[in-house]
Amino acid sequence: MTILKFYEKERESFQKEYELKLTDQEAQTIYRKLLRHFKISCPWKTIRFWGTQEKGRSYIHGSIKLPHNPSLGLLVHETAHKKVAKHTKKLMTLMKRMFAYCKKKNYWRKN
Ligand SMILES: [Zn+2]
Repeated sequence: MTILKFYEKERESFQKEYELKLTDQEAQTIYRKLLRHFKISCPWKTIRFWGTQEKGRSYIHGSIKLPHNPSLGLLVHETAHKKVAKHTKKLMTLMKRMFAYCKKKNYWRKN
């Protein structure tokens, strides 16, 4: 899958999740819960917030970088990268599982 194809498919499948904006605090809480639940060992549990542009980075040996008030979609995308580096089907599947977990745990605001 090319990266553009991946993004396209992602925005189509997870539109709601990309529209759901979080506060920095919410993003931080969900990030820690995801790391624990999906057994991602990472000593850097603090998100680096940077700017407001909706794009992020994930560092294998480090934390993730997100804009302030990130969407749930972006948070989950970067968190999933801690386990799967490339934009493959495997990443998509992991993202799906993470969204299901967030939904089950009620990490969505009711709006
Ligand atoms: Zn990515």
